[in-house]
Amino acid sequence: MILTRKLQLKLIDEKKWIYLKELNNYVFMAYNDVVNTHYFSTLFKDRIALTDEEIKNKTIKINKKITDVRDKIKEAKDDKKKIETLKKEQQKLYNTLKILNREARDKAEEFYTTGDKNFGYQMMSKRFPNIPSTIRTCINTDVYANYTKEIKDIRSGKRAVRTYRKGVPIPFQLEKSKEIFVKKNDKIIFRWIKDIDFEIIFGRDKSSRKSEIEKIISGKYKMSDSKLQIKNKKIFLLLALNQQEDKLQLDKNVTIGVDLGIKYPAYVSTNSGIQHQRIGSIEDLFKLRMQIQNRRRRLQKDIKSTHGGKGRTKKLKALERLRQKERNYVRTYNHFVSKEVVNFASQQKAATIIMEDLSGFGKNKEKGDIVLRNWSYFELQSMIEYKAKLKGIEVKKIDPKYTSQTCSVCGEKGKRESQKDFLCLNKKCKNFGNKVLADYNAAWNIAKGGVKVL
Ligand SMILES: [Zn+2]
Repeated sequence: MILTRKLQLKLIDEKKWIYLKELNNYVFMAYNDVVNTHYFSTLFKDRIALTDEEIKNKTIKINKKITDVRDKIKEAKDDKKKIETLKKEQQKLYNTLKILNREARDKAEEFYTTGDKNFGYQMMSKRFPNIPSTIRTCINTDVYANYTKEIKDIRSGKRAVRTYRKGVPIPFQLEKSKEIFVKKNDKIIFRWIKDIDFEIIFGRDKSSRKSEIEKIISGKYKMSDSKLQIKNKKIFLLLALNQQEDKLQLDKNVTIGVDLGIKYPAYVSTNSGIQHQRIGSIEDLFKLRMQIQNRRRRLQKDIKSTHGGKGRTKKLKALERLRQKERNYVRTYNHFVSKEVVNFASQQKAATIIMEDLSGFGKNKEKGDIVLRNWSYFELQSMIEYKAKLKGIEVKKIDPKYTSQTCSVCGEKGKRESQKDFLCLNKKCKNFGNKVLADYNAAWNIAKGGVKVL
């Protein structure tokens, strides 16, 4: 699986900035030059094929015959039988002409579909010798891949030949034997071509980004075709990572149910119901959220009574910061919960994680109200999906109907005693009379694929 990351870079030797800027400009020009070269060669070869001597001569002959027949038809005047024969002959000639045209088209097609990939590279080497050869190769491959995909639409007029904008990222490949990332004290240095070194500036997601680079250093991940982007005096590495993490040996018979929400942010259970666990605490989640929300409300009220001026602008900015803070908090929390859910699943070697499809949450009013109003539930679900996929675990969504009202042991309808507890009403069930944790009960039902009949 290939992941892409955008990392900001800081040039270590400032003197190399001029070279980089120049290169950036050349790359942009080369891109357009290569695509136009390819297009020209297409049109040119097309033209050659259409003026192919053999086809040309045959076409002239037939056209002459057609004219002859037309004259004969005129001469025949009232001789209907003769006219009919001549018209048949004429039709035959038209058909031959059609076949010839098709032949010409086929020839043209043969011309522009046979390997002229190197043409772009050769041309570029002459016009842009300053661009390092590895970059030239990458530009040509990049342009050619897009061009062959688009040529059909270009020829039929559905689209124009692609133009590359100034600042198009510089593609490159680094020698595999060379050290690409080097740890230096606390920093990680990225060694590019032409001995240009950059320091990687890790932003907000510092630890995870850094650990990914460390995995490249240790050989666990591989760097694949990446690009360098120079934009508004900033430099970015558009890094493509090839994850080669060992795929877990998963057991198809084990599924994990995830119940999101009421007492705990998430409760997970295996389909056997033996292993189960709560993840996080809803109090943690809501407490800070509430604090932020209250502050936000006070501020909003304040803004309403402040008319214009600097004070108002300041308060609006503070409000925006609070919104951002709230948003980040939930996001971080979702990262934590999704990671734990997937960890639990991989510990259990589960091949599948099952979640409730709450897109039509009206079916589950209780859950819908509490969870959806206070929590970006869909973000959490998509994080779980994404993280599970990385480990080769499949994610399924089921109808949430009755998962919280059905006994996970006997399958009969029970009673949600309180927000916390579930009670089975079936006298024959070993769960009868026992208070069971409601979230666990639901998670187990979900792990079994949901409740089908009630
Ligand atoms: Zn029961």
